[in-house]
Amino acid sequence: MAKIDLTIPSLGNKFIDLRDTIPGDSYNWSWVRSLSGVNYLAIHHTAGPDTQTPEQIANYHINSNGWGGIGYHFLIAKDGTVYYVGDISTARANVANLNDAVIGICLTGNFTSGRVPTDEQLDSAHKLCDFFINNYPDLSNVKSWDVVLGHKELPGQSTTCPGDNWPGWRVRFVEGSGSSAPDRGAQISELYREVLGRDPDMGGLHSYTNGSMSIDQIMYSMVESEEHKQLVRAPSQVDSLQTTLASVNQQVIILQETLQEREKEIADLKSRTNHLPVTTDEPSSSKSDPTLTIFQALFNLYKFVFMPGKVS
Ligand SMILES: [Zn+2]
Repeated sequence: MAKIDLTIPSLGNKFIDLRDTIPGDSYNWSWVRSLSGVNYLAIHHTAGPDTQTPEQIANYHINSNGWGGIGYHFLIAKDGTVYYVGDISTARANVANLNDAVIGICLTGNFTSGRVPTDEQLDSAHKLCDFFINNYPDLSNVKSWDVVLGHKELPGQSTTCPGDNWPGWRVRFVEGSGSSAPDRGAQISELYREVLGRDPDMGGLHSYTNGSMSIDQIMYSMVESEEHKQLVRAPSQVDSLQTTLASVNQQVIILQETLQEREKEIADLKSRTNHLPVTTDEPSSSKSDPTLTIFQALFNLYKFVFMPGKVS
């Protein structure tokens, strides 16, 4: 019996060892091999339903194919969980005539007709392969992403596995841009804050997130929205109000200067016509007093600026 335990920190609790419990022999079947003979990380799809469990796949291999255990070393479920199902020290059954030379990694699902793995699957597949390539010296021939091949790309295979979209998702797989990229919802929420200056409302966020518009198109649509236009207009209204206020202040200063000049003239006049009584608290003289006329003008000006509509 061969038993190689693995600890893959980047996968955290998304790595589950099922070797002890999954149906069939995970430790001896088909035969024990040397890790130095492994040249490829072979990528498969189950070509079955998304909900298929590791147990169901193992049972199919055992009961329908008549094998001694599951044909793969790893299964990766839709949620990105990586199941360790066949010991890597054993050859399994997933690439004709090359089982000695591969570690078989199978993603649950059928990736034909436009269907591709989930971001979680791609992210976990990337982390698993990255571990073998960069952190596992015993696999002396697995040292670059060039050895990560789709089943059909391996020599002598007649299969469509892992589906017709493999070249498209292989790029994301190798780059590891799966769930490590900010998700669509988060990007759209950020656009709400950047463009509209607010948190998203649930209705808007939901329809954008589930719609077919690209992030760029969503940004353009937000920029063109009436809400954004009003947001842009608002500061210019403040600007024009500030300009008005500044000019009013200037007029007030001019009026104050005029007021001081008039007061001086009145004082001069009073001192020259000495016989007149000086009455500063006589309201009846308001009609002819230029000081009060200027006060009245100032008051009207303030009413005009600060109480629009109340000036008849
Ligand atoms: Zn395959």
